[in-house]
Amino acid sequence: MAAKQKHLQLFVLCLLVTTILLQSLIATELTWDENGYILYCPCMGRFGNQADHFLGSLAFAKMLNRTLSVPPFIVYRHHAPPYSNVHVPYSEFFQLEALSRYHRVVSLEDFMEHLAPTHWPQGQRAAYCFESAAQRSVDKKSCPMKDGNPFGPFWDHVEVDFDRSVLFGGLSFSTYHQAHWISKFPPSEHPVLALPGAPAQFPVIEEHVGLQKYVVWAEGLVQEGQGHIATLLPRPYVGIHLRIGSDWVNACKLLQSGDTGPHFMASPQCVGYNRQTALPLTMTMCLPDLAEIRRALKLWVDKTSARSIYIATDSESHQAELQHFFKDKAKVVSLKPDSAQLDLYILSQADHFIGNCVSSFSAFVKRDRDVHGRPSSFFGMDYPGKSNQKDEL
Ligand code: GDP
Ligand code: MN
Repeated sequence: MAAKQKHLQLFVLCLLVTTILLQSLIATELTWDENGYILYCPCMGRFGNQADHFLGSLAFAKMLNRTLSVPPFIVYRHHAPPYSNVHVPYSEFFQLEALSRYHRVVSLEDFMEHLAPTHWPQGQRAAYCFESAAQRSVDKKSCPMKDGNPFGPFWDHVEVDFDRSVLFGGLSFSTYHQAHWISKFPPSEHPVLALPGAPAQFPVIEEHVGLQKYVVWAEGLVQEGQGHIATLLPRPYVGIHLRIGSDWVNACKLLQSGDTGPHFMASPQCVGYNRQTALPLTMTMCLPDLAEIRRALKLWVDKTSARSIYIATDSESHQAELQHFFKDKAKVVSLKPDSAQLDLYILSQADHFIGNCVSSFSAFVKRDRDVHGRPSSFFGMDYPGKSNQKDEL
């Protein structure tokens, strides 16, 4: 009898402690930040672009000492169900908590559910944008927050309509304008800065590349990815990213016209961030042909004594040709998964990675690997930072 009672007492105590812990957890999570918030739509480009923009936005929020409201990723599913944009919460791919080691964050979903009803209610929602952006509106004074796709569906997804617009000019998102931002928009008068796009540059600037370390894979993705690696990919394995689809063929054509300048999309990651000293960007680096794919793969398969090869691709995998080429030496695998993040994860875990210099999808993998000290190269550039061109030697 006494033992039973003790058990019951213990149980009630546990329940009490859990409740208090949970309450304090929710309370800390949902406290309004008097320093204000940054909200934005990741409205430019697909995952790679959104990820680059995210790092810059994180840095911008820290620079203004405002909490960053972390938006969902916009996934364009127009080729398969549901044939529309899907808004995937950040925490489905990455750990939201890991960002807190760098700066204060709240998911946009939590912000809308728990904070907006009291602190950013309907009727008081201002949009902030460049004067130049407002020029496109009918009255030339309204921020184009919900004009077109993906803008409209994004804000509709979180049930936001904007009531007025605040325009600015002569400002950039760089640290140069830090004081200007703070004096122009004190959080007491402007608690929520909601922007039509990311307050950041594309591609990510060199200073912010290291913020990748706070972007940590979600446990679910790790489990799934590790499962595939364990069953399909005997180590060591080389991972490659083939960015060779029709949109990319067209993009790389711009290179041939010669007016792209020293930098082209994500290319600073391999030609260098300094425009004066940037290495030449070749067609092979932008769009490797099968001969280059074979050459680079053979080099790294030999160097790492790889037993398997993983191909992530936006179109063709060349799996059969490559398997024929490597015969029994290495097993060639391509999953073509529904989720691009699974490809990204498997590439991030490879013993060696060969990426596409110009692609921000490759850049995500490269940054993630750099954080963990894993080696990477690019098609057309075996040793990043060193040109492969013979005439350069
Ligand atoms: P970028 O255009 O290469 O700079 O990178 P983005 O991420 O902005 O756009 C390319 C998009 O194409 C990706 O987000 C994916 O949706 C898709 N994609 C490109 N390469 C791959 C790949 O290897 N695997 C998968 N699953 N999707 C890819
Ligand atoms: Mn793109």
